[in-house]
Amino acid sequence: MKLYEYQAKEILHKYNINVPKGEAVTDVEGATKIYNQLGTERCVIKSQVLAGGRGKGGGVRIVNTLEEVKDYTSKIIGSHLITSQTGEKGVLVNKVLVAEAIDIKKELYLAISIDRSASKITIISSTEGGTEIEEVSSKTPHKIFKEQINPLLGIRNFQVRQIAINLGLTGPLLTKASSLLKTLFKIFVENDCSLLEINPLVLTPDDEIVALDIKMEIDDNALFRHKDLLEMKDISDTGNVENVATEAGLSYIGLDGNIGCLVNGAGLAMATMDIIKLYGGEPANFLDVGGDAPVERITTAFEIIFTDPHVAGVLVNIFGGIMKCDIVAEGIIHAIEKVDIKVPLVVRLEGTNVEIARKMLNDSKLNIIFADSMKDASEKIIKAVNENK
Ligand code: GDP
Ligand code: MG
Repeated sequence: MKLYEYQAKEILHKYNINVPKGEAVTDVEGATKIYNQLGTERCVIKSQVLAGGRGKGGGVRIVNTLEEVKDYTSKIIGSHLITSQTGEKGVLVNKVLVAEAIDIKKELYLAISIDRSASKITIISSTEGGTEIEEVSSKTPHKIFKEQINPLLGIRNFQVRQIAINLGLTGPLLTKASSLLKTLFKIFVENDCSLLEINPLVLTPDDEIVALDIKMEIDDNALFRHKDLLEMKDISDTGNVENVATEAGLSYIGLDGNIGCLVNGAGLAMATMDIIKLYGGEPANFLDVGGDAPVERITTAFEIIFTDPHVAGVLVNIFGGIMKCDIVAEGIIHAIEKVDIKVPLVVRLEGTNVEIARKMLNDSKLNIIFADSMKDASEKIIKAVNENK
């Protein structure tokens, strides 16, 4: 689960880490109120989306007057922000964070993540923080430092010192950075993070260290013991389809193609995407409806597939093991009635109760193209989509 920047800042603030003062709002009135409350002329308005690269994509703006606050907020809320991490469709901006602007002397980079191959926690640091970090990493990798932490021993003092030194922090700043690093490590462990990235971590002209931008991801498998974090999940945020899908018990990942896929089981979903590509098509998504999807979940799955306007056809590929094919058929019929599918639909069903399912779909007189095998199904959907162009 990814947290929004403003949520991550609330968490860090609770641990007494310096974050800029500010609040997230959903409209111009809210932004005006917070701007006035902050009482500093120079503020920053930041789009709250679950993707990075906002600065370069025009999603972060320093403002100096209330007019600018209103102007920028009204433009950005409700728009689709396109960054290097969103894909060409961009993501809908529902909220902005209005915060005091911080004076920056130096932008640093700091991230804590998990190195699965080493079974360790890795702390990545660099003096070259900011929006060019990817470039630094590819062109001057020697400027990126990695320190591996044994999860059983925790972070050691010598490691803390080494990281601070790598960040170019000495003297009194080394002391400040050491306590910051220990706290960040504690936050990472206590909240079962899979990622805690601060970029930039800034040094101000009066030598304060401030976490200016935070990316925080929580391991989904640990969410059961973090009810407070789970509550932060913004399920009303329909701009984030992945969120809506998770809530419905579906695994959905949007992609750039035009063939929507509805599959049961992650392995079969991967294989379906592979075979679509093998025959020259492009999948619009990965979608696993799970082992025993009830009718409502199948309907939601169709609704989620069609939130992507590029979908020009749908391939349903189900192997009925635990899931019975007749339940899927019922789901499909229900979904077609509810969602009003206007694009070609190819269905390949195999397994438990497949005969009943085929009969149900046939009797429904719905416009369905039946397929026998995965090869047949992918050829048929690609042909149908191309003919429909
Ligand atoms: P990202 O592009 O999505 O990573 O968004 P960030 O929050 O990291 O902002 C991008 C860049 O905008 C930062 O690297 C800073 O250079 C600049 N920026 C953001 N907030 C402030 C601020 O409060 N003061 C100043 N001076 N610059 C800021
Ligand atoms: Mg950033």
